[in-house]
Amino acid sequence: MLRLYNTLTRAKEEFQPVHPGEVRIYTCGPTVYDYAHIGNFRAFVFADILRRYLIYKGYRVTQVMNLTDIDDKTIRGARQANTSLSDYVKFYSTAFFEDLQTLNIERAEHYPAATEHIPEMVALIQRLLERGYAYQAGGSVYFKVDAFPEYGKLSYLEERQLQAGASGRVDADEYEKEDVRDFALWKGWTEEDGDVYWETEFGKGRPGWHLECSAMSMKYLGTPIDIHAGGIDLVFPHHENEIAQSEAAMGQRFVRYWVHCQHLLVNNQKMSKSLGNFYTLRDLLKQGHKARAIRYSLLSTHYRQAQNFTLDGLASAEAAVQRLQDFMANVQTAEGTGTSVEGLSKRATQQFEEGMDDDLNISLGLAAIFEFVRDVNRLMADGRLSRDNAPRVMATMRQFDRVLGLLDDADTAPDADVERLVQAREQARKRRDFATADRLRAEITALGYVIEDTPRGSRLKRL
Ligand SMILES: [Zn+2]
Repeated sequence: MLRLYNTLTRAKEEFQPVHPGEVRIYTCGPTVYDYAHIGNFRAFVFADILRRYLIYKGYRVTQVMNLTDIDDKTIRGARQANTSLSDYVKFYSTAFFEDLQTLNIERAEHYPAATEHIPEMVALIQRLLERGYAYQAGGSVYFKVDAFPEYGKLSYLEERQLQAGASGRVDADEYEKEDVRDFALWKGWTEEDGDVYWETEFGKGRPGWHLECSAMSMKYLGTPIDIHAGGIDLVFPHHENEIAQSEAAMGQRFVRYWVHCQHLLVNNQKMSKSLGNFYTLRDLLKQGHKARAIRYSLLSTHYRQAQNFTLDGLASAEAAVQRLQDFMANVQTAEGTGTSVEGLSKRATQQFEEGMDDDLNISLGLAAIFEFVRDVNRLMADGRLSRDNAPRVMATMRQFDRVLGLLDDADTAPDADVERLVQAREQARKRRDFATADRLRAEITALGYVIEDTPRGSRLKRL
């Protein structure tokens, strides 16, 4: 039975979906105004592990991740780049999807963009106005926090902190608010918005950021949904506001389980451009780091612990991934006289699931896998792993990899040219033309691969 830590109750709870066998997840997505950084990707990799483990457990998953394409940052970015908002955000959404693929993050079922759901947001605002939870002032519409007594139930903040937190975020154009905690559902047009606005019955303007997640979650997943996931920094005010808007409008619970991923630090400091410790995924790839190593690094700390990202840590992640990938290749060369691996395989699977069932304890999950690798390696070293055992071992590893996503390595998949050279070299060796074989080996090395000859043929490894 899977147990998840619910931020709302501050407790680990048994996971029970609203509809048996089905899980509906909403994940707060990126603001597409720049390349996402590795702190953002830690939360997205976490959501991917959650998604993959639910699928591993046999659930049918419907996941929605929004793209915030309308806010101060996207508008400012488009203006500075002297381009239209839609061209500007298109560039960064495309980059975001490329990055997801690089990190082997499974695609969600829906990626709604805020600008494509203005009617849904307007309808939600109308509903809140009708029910007395919102008011119009100065061309904007605000949520009336006072009308929703449960406000603060997710973040556990005292009244005083709620006020301080909210007042830190008051925009200059929000002085019409009745209460410092109130937040904008609809922002009246200002000059900085330029040609970015929608004409509605509330006047010319654009939706507030918090509103889009409520509107799109309800549209694609209904209420209540099973899981809402995001980074810990979103708890207040974003998720608190989402709860207020959604529950005030619908008169029922919005989300059953709130799960939040902790921060990522770099060299024990908050990532910032001025400290020179700010990395996008692309920065790391340019430095020659491998995509699967970055994925491993981001998933290997339990999601409720702050992660300290370092380049040394990334190097160990690379070694760990290499170990798993080498293992998969080595197992295929087993030539021993075999004992059964059934017991080992079952034990590893059980340990893996026990760990992951306990609030996705990835440390226990990974420990189970590496112990299995060690045990099988020992059998092989003793000549006790037969060729017939290999498929069972590999199937077990593939099972784990449905959750981890580390074995099919985009980095090391050799291209067709290299494969052709390998085949040509095999043929040269068969006809004992060693001069040609050596020349081809040198060509393959030049392309960044080494060939290892085994009794059952040769295999490639990236240098
Ligand atoms: Zn959100």
